[in-house]
Amino acid sequence: MRDSIYTIPITDVFEPHDGCPLCRLYDILEERCVEYIMGAAMMEPDVRVETNRLGFCRHHYDMMLAKKNRLSIALILESRLITLADDILTEKGTAPQKKKSSKAVESACSCFVCQQIDGAMEKMISNLLSVWGKDPDFRKLFAEQPYICFPHAAKLLETAPSEIGKKLLPEFRNETLKLSREWMAMLKEDVTTFCRSFDYRNTTTASELGRCRDSVERTINFLAPR
Ligand SMILES: [Zn+2]
Ligand SMILES: [Zn+2]
Repeated sequence: MRDSIYTIPITDVFEPHDGCPLCRLYDILEERCVEYIMGAAMMEPDVRVETNRLGFCRHHYDMMLAKKNRLSIALILESRLITLADDILTEKGTAPQKKKSSKAVESACSCFVCQQIDGAMEKMISNLLSVWGKDPDFRKLFAEQPYICFPHAAKLLETAPSEIGKKLLPEFRNETLKLSREWMAMLKEDVTTFCRSFDYRNTTTASELGRCRDSVERTINFLAPR
């Protein structure tokens, strides 16, 4: 049951032609995982054992808070506090482990949702690459994307050799680099225009500046989408 919440048809993710498709995939997985934690997972003791051990990062606690289901969060927090008191924030749990951080440091730095999404993203990226290698229609859909953000392009290019055959690999590399580099060149131009507009000798027109006004946000979204 758990795995099915992370199964999304890859073409559904690419069809909207809006922003980085892998960022959209991440957002869908994140939303589903948070919904699941606060809903169906409440009835699954093995999931609760995991969330008690791993906890959540602040960003994901904030997402849960925004769901306005305080009882559900309170129940999650109650059992996390019990696990900390019994097993983690204890004499033994805070002692350094062999070549590893203490149980307490590990638990303080982990997040159940982040871990679930990372695992699901890995699987989806392998699947996407293998579909790209087999299906010319999907290759066309891939090439039509507005752009691929920096971290997702890096991940795709690193994983590609294990999923795409030698013959098609150069084409995949070219397509992916093209999608990222063309977008990046446009961002660079806009950021430069924006920077120059602060120069007293500047001759930037109002319409040029209009297009560049949100270049800082767009560039950050490309470099570090989250
Ligand atoms: Zn992305
Ligand atoms: Zn997290």
